[in-house]
Amino acid sequence: MQRVIRIGISSCLLGHPVRYDGEDRREDVILDALGKYFQFVPVCPEVEYGLPVPREPMRLTGGPAAPRLVAISTGVDHTDGMLQWTRGKIKCLSGENLCGFIFKSRSPSCSAAGVEVYSPSGGRNKRAAGIFSRAFMRHFPSVPIEEETGLYSARAREGFIRRVIDFSGKKRG
Ligand code: SF4
Repeated sequence: MQRVIRIGISSCLLGHPVRYDGEDRREDVILDALGKYFQFVPVCPEVEYGLPVPREPMRLTGGPAAPRLVAISTGVDHTDGMLQWTRGKIKCLSGENLCGFIFKSRSPSCSAAGVEVYSPSGGRNKRAAGIFSRAFMRHFPSVPIEEETGLYSARAREGFIRRVIDFSGKKRG
């Protein structure tokens, strides 16, 4: 029997309407190409942590080494709660045998890198990974990851598919 290879994905990329504005960011081309090889395991850190849909948008603030996750208008700081949820989620994902992850770009929770970090004065000259994605990458440093923006070309998708299949093969030994 052929073994199923599972990869995580930010839920909004799979078409789940979980974004702060109630929309999704389904990526049909990526899903069609990768869905031939892999089973997707959706994760929405913000909704699974307990925030509603729709909700107030958030951003990262402070220093890029340990940024805070803060609601933009009200200033509510969700960092501690999100980090606590993330610890539990990563334990669960350890049992999911994930061989890759596709993160949503430009998300303060999911981005793999490059999301803007705002200073208290509102400047934004630093960049970091999102709160959940950063913890995921630290815990699973060898799991292949990409943002959806890194999978827009056929060549990039083929490269990622190969990396995931190779990783899966190594895990099996
Ligand atoms: S980017 Fe991440 S936290 Fe935001 S809606 Fe998508 S899955 Fe949820």
